[in-house]
Amino acid sequence: MSSTDRIFNFSAGPAVLPEPVLAEAKQDLMSLPDVGMSVLEISHRSKAFDQILEQAEADLRELAGIGDDHHVLFLQGGASQQFAMVPMNLLEAGGVADYTLTGSWAKKAAAEAAKFGTVHVCASTESESFTRVPAPDELRLTPGAAYVHVTSNNTICGTEWPVLPSTGEAPLVVDASSDLLSRPIDVAATGLIYGGAQKNLGPAGVTLVIIRKDLAERGAETLPATLRYAVAAQHGSRYNTPPVFAIYLFGLVMRWLKDQGGLAAIETVNRRKAARLYDAIDGSAFYRGTAQPGSRSMMNVTFRLRDEGLEARFVQEASAAGLSGLKGHRSVGGQRASIYNAFPEAGVAALVDFMGEFERTHG
Ligand code: PMP
Repeated sequence: MSSTDRIFNFSAGPAVLPEPVLAEAKQDLMSLPDVGMSVLEISHRSKAFDQILEQAEADLRELAGIGDDHHVLFLQGGASQQFAMVPMNLLEAGGVADYTLTGSWAKKAAAEAAKFGTVHVCASTESESFTRVPAPDELRLTPGAAYVHVTSNNTICGTEWPVLPSTGEAPLVVDASSDLLSRPIDVAATGLIYGGAQKNLGPAGVTLVIIRKDLAERGAETLPATLRYAVAAQHGSRYNTPPVFAIYLFGLVMRWLKDQGGLAAIETVNRRKAARLYDAIDGSAFYRGTAQPGSRSMMNVTFRLRDEGLEARFVQEASAAGLSGLKGHRSVGGQRASIYNAFPEAGVAALVDFMGEFERTHG
């Protein structure tokens, strides 16, 4: 298949990857330059893989401005495993963790933490069907909390914190699965940031954790080794065999991001893509955005048709026109256009054209 056969992929994740990354991976699949074997076949303790991992980490550190106070860890188990690892490592017996409830993933994170300690919901927008994130002054933080957990982008309901809240002494823990590296982030002000790679960072299989070094040491030695941040840090993310191919591809995505000009540049493009879609939705009585302005996601644009009876047809005709993956999450229905970093501007233009045409023929 040539790149010209590729359709526009609006999937929420695993999601579209940059074409130059796929092309390079394809070329390297039989043999890495100067290695003579594919990355799928080399030892995770080989020099070649050391270089791949070190370069990926160095490029990420440069892109996101990660200083010496934080470890970069490549783990497995997805963001869902972090829902458990965060409290297992950071929530001591008798401690309290504050959680903001802003969508289904945030609720899952809180439910998992409640298995290990006391969870205090410090803000929730559930009564408004998660159509917005809380304003900073709505947070009721617990003095002395072990940490405050925030989901920076809510993949299902299409909302995003415009700025992350200040949490005082309590470390901020961020599930950034669906917006990591879509815009600059103040890592120094953050205790722990985590996300599965399969939206903005690479393929499924590797989970990125950026953790303040002192927090990584908090987990008890009695924890299983594979679930303790300190062990992963001590072993350079190679306590056991890491997902080598996923880390290799992650590295290619970091290089691609640098080629795009870094996070400030990619944010400009992301804002432009999202604005174009929201303008199309707001400019028509036929469509309706589901997230409240002020909380709208740059990554997952969620919308309904005023006539919901036409939605199945919308998704079906869009798919026939080469616009794939627009069906909203099964728990909320409607439409969702996921437009992560690698999603091309031409695809947004194609969707806007399609929406206009669909309205003309069915409105
Ligand atoms: N958090 C958020 C915000 C997500 O969007 C997802 C996946 N869609 C998850 C957590 C769960 O991620 P994983 O499948 O990697 O466990």
